[in-house]
Amino acid sequence: MARFNHDIVIVGAGLAGLRAAVEAADQCDVAVISKLHPLRSHSGAAQGGICAALGNEEEDYPLWHAFDTVKGSDYLGDQDAIEVMCNDAPRAIQEMEHYGVPFSRTKDGKIAQRPFGGHTRNYGEAAVRRACYAADRTGHVCLHTLYEQCIKRKVRFYSEFQMLDICETDGVVCGIVAYEIRTGDIHIFNSKAVMFATGGYGRAYKTTSNAHANTGDGLAIALRHHIPLEDMEFVQFHPTGLYRLGILVTEGARGEGGVLRNASGDRFMERYAPTVKDLAPRDMISRFMYQEISEGRGAGPKKDYINLDLTHLSLKQIESKLPEISTFAKIYLGVDPSKNPIPVQPTCHYAMGGVPTNVDGRVVIDEKNTVMPGFWAAGEVACVSVHGANRLGTNSLLDLVVFGRRAGKDMVQFVKETKGKMPIQSDADKYVKEKLSAVLARNTGEPVGKIREELQQTMMDNVSVFRTEETLSRACLEIKKLRERAKNTVVNDKGKEFNTDLLDALELDHMIDYSQTLIESAYNRKESRGAHAREDFKTRDDQNWLKHSLCWMDESGHTQIGYKEVNMKLSQENAKFVPKERKY
Ligand SMILES: Cc1cc2nc3c(=O)[nH]c(=O)nc-3n(C[C@H](O)[C@H](O)[C@H](O)COP(=O)(O)OP(=O)(O)OC[C@H]3O[C@@H](n4cnc5c(N)ncnc54)[C@H](O)[C@@H]3O)c2cc1C
Repeated sequence: MARFNHDIVIVGAGLAGLRAAVEAADQCDVAVISKLHPLRSHSGAAQGGICAALGNEEEDYPLWHAFDTVKGSDYLGDQDAIEVMCNDAPRAIQEMEHYGVPFSRTKDGKIAQRPFGGHTRNYGEAAVRRACYAADRTGHVCLHTLYEQCIKRKVRFYSEFQMLDICETDGVVCGIVAYEIRTGDIHIFNSKAVMFATGGYGRAYKTTSNAHANTGDGLAIALRHHIPLEDMEFVQFHPTGLYRLGILVTEGARGEGGVLRNASGDRFMERYAPTVKDLAPRDMISRFMYQEISEGRGAGPKKDYINLDLTHLSLKQIESKLPEISTFAKIYLGVDPSKNPIPVQPTCHYAMGGVPTNVDGRVVIDEKNTVMPGFWAAGEVACVSVHGANRLGTNSLLDLVVFGRRAGKDMVQFVKETKGKMPIQSDADKYVKEKLSAVLARNTGEPVGKIREELQQTMMDNVSVFRTEETLSRACLEIKKLRERAKNTVVNDKGKEFNTDLLDALELDHMIDYSQTLIESAYNRKESRGAHAREDFKTRDDQNWLKHSLCWMDESGHTQIGYKEVNMKLSQENAKFVPKERKY
């Protein structure tokens, strides 16, 4: 075992982690810990774009962007945080451009912008061009650019180190415990500030656009330290996953003019959202797709998918603006999108909820927003909350660079004010060592993969686009059984080097923990809002439910639910967006 010392330890090398590192590296000693090589982080898979009201292609303003984000969130997003993000967006994009991101261009050389779901002109009049992009490889180029900026600033990377715990002394976070995947050694990192940027958790579902690494480790580790998770019931299903595979086809395909059609070729979104049609927000389109399918209008022999039609776009447009997804359709489904429509179905895509933070990325631990000293979080693992009950496309990449930077700045300030080393208990790695030995000591039991598959199926069947008391009760029972079974899994590889079987077992425990908070928060919320559609409570109920859920978990897996107020005010005096029915 080694002990490492740094001013700041950032866990996660996606865009949120790297943006924070860039911010802090000139003034502090910064380490980034990642279970993957940084360039394999899921941020690199982002396709469609990153938005800002630049107004490069048509008139646009940050306040319009803020309105769309509040409305898109079904009024659950905190309006102060949304305002911070939308106002900072144009600066953030310019900064990314100056760092070297090769954005696609307009004819006169400005950053090109395309329409995206739920982004509108003049408070809902029509779709607006707000998403900046680099073909359909936006996340890839942003991730590479920020990685280069980190290397230039001599950020210390520990790649293929998996965090298994945080070090906490008297309620102050002062480091992490990590497992070196190459050697099987356990190390302690001591720091003044710890930041989680560990990304999303889509792997709890069977059909997902998320990478294999998205197992929500940060969420489960926070839970274990008595930090609640906020708004876990809100899980985004993206309308266009490749049929049966879930691999994403960016909303940019519809931004470029693609349309959704049912079996008889009818462009059904014209009926449901007459103003923005195929560019309505994702929660709504996913529901309408299922409605078409359940009423017998699905395409294919089993009538169970919808067609995404790009055949009317020019070959040049497909090749220059959507090269990646066009290759995916050809490779995985044998469909050439310039000739035939792409079979699609909703796929689990994004976590609106997560570790609660304030606008400076500081983790908060209760209804009163009490800060936990030494601890920050940003990106998909965090809930700040700008996405509320439903995120608009391209707002996540923006959230990462805006709040990643703010967390970086705040950590620098904290480090400067904190003299000396943070105290760390000598047995900080005790929990991890005991856990690993217990898993390795079992020689018989069920395979981890079997329980994981059942968990994914349970979540898919009972806690996806539509939910009812019945499905959620079933999921509650199932998850408790899976938790018991997971205590007796067997890991056949007993070695130290690259023991991914062992890590799978630990990740399964994480998945069970946060899935339970998700199910129970969903069970408790007796209304429909954004991505949480209860068939037994079909309408939004602002009177009783305009509030954030918080869910705590104790050592034995029992949960406790609490609620927190939504911030309904913009910074301008008395200005706010008042909840209305969401129509597009
Ligand atoms: C296919 C796809 C396309 C998308 N397209 C868009 C888009 O066009 N626009 C948009 O705005 N959003 C998009 N999104 C959403 C967006 O990409 C993600 O929300 C975002 O990239 C998450 O970034 P992050 O920095 O929080 O984490 P990630 O990029 O997911 O990175 C997580 C990091 O944490 C590390 N990590 C996790 N657990 C541990 C651990 N236990 N120990 C050590 N390290 C750990 C990983 O190694 C990784 O480096 C897309 C998402 C997907 C899946």
